[in-house]
Amino acid sequence: MNDTEKLKKIIAESDNIVFFGGAGVSCASGIPDFRSSDGLYSAETEQGESPEEMLHISYLQRKPKEFFEYYKSSMLYPEAKPNAAHKALAKLEKMGKLCAVVTQNIDGLHGEAGSGTVYELHGSVARNYCIRCGREHSLEYVVNSPSVPECEYCGGIVRPDVVLYGEGLDGYVFAAAKRSIAEADVLIVGGTSLTVNPAASLVAYFGGKHFIIINKTPTPYDEYADMIIREPIEKVLSEAVEGI
Ligand code: ZN
Repeated sequence: MNDTEKLKKIIAESDNIVFFGGAGVSCASGIPDFRSSDGLYSAETEQGESPEEMLHISYLQRKPKEFFEYYKSSMLYPEAKPNAAHKALAKLEKMGKLCAVVTQNIDGLHGEAGSGTVYELHGSVARNYCIRCGREHSLEYVVNSPSVPECEYCGGIVRPDVVLYGEGLDGYVFAAAKRSIAEADVLIVGGTSLTVNPAASLVAYFGGKHFIIINKTPTPYDEYADMIIREPIEKVLSEAVEGI
């Protein structure tokens, strides 16, 4: 029995699985890993400022035009579609096997694939709100606005509901993610090198039976895993879910 077959057996026997994922989950959808060695965060921007500076809350407040120019050109992938990994996880939830997806991604693709319980630790580009009146606006509204998106009701800036540098994680989302991981029987970690804290530290709350890591490169938690699979996440998950 190979590792994917073993994973299929574990999935077939459980109804309390939690998936924790990162950038690797969305690679097959054409969204780059911002934190990889050749990714966005290692690059200098055209403006000569680092991505960490330009995606900082104070930058949005001081230079909204430059912020949105950079944000729209480098963080938004409105054409991206869910891939086989997102679809496999949505299917497992519908079968009553998967309790939650916890993700570090901000692309909203789990929801688009049909997953219902998704804890987006860093927020989502799919949600946008006016900083003055709080009204929500769609991703299309932001994409189609010529420069700084302004609220159609009050003229305030419409910002993405993503966690920028200088901002903390949403306490409710973090607590709910922590609880789901602590109560799970099976934890599948995929497409993340588990190096971005505090999100990655959530994995330490797992106390269930099977801990599986699907990632191309080593992670700080490898020594605790029952099984490590170094293949593309969309391939492993779609094969493991097929025929269950
Ligand atoms: Zn408004």
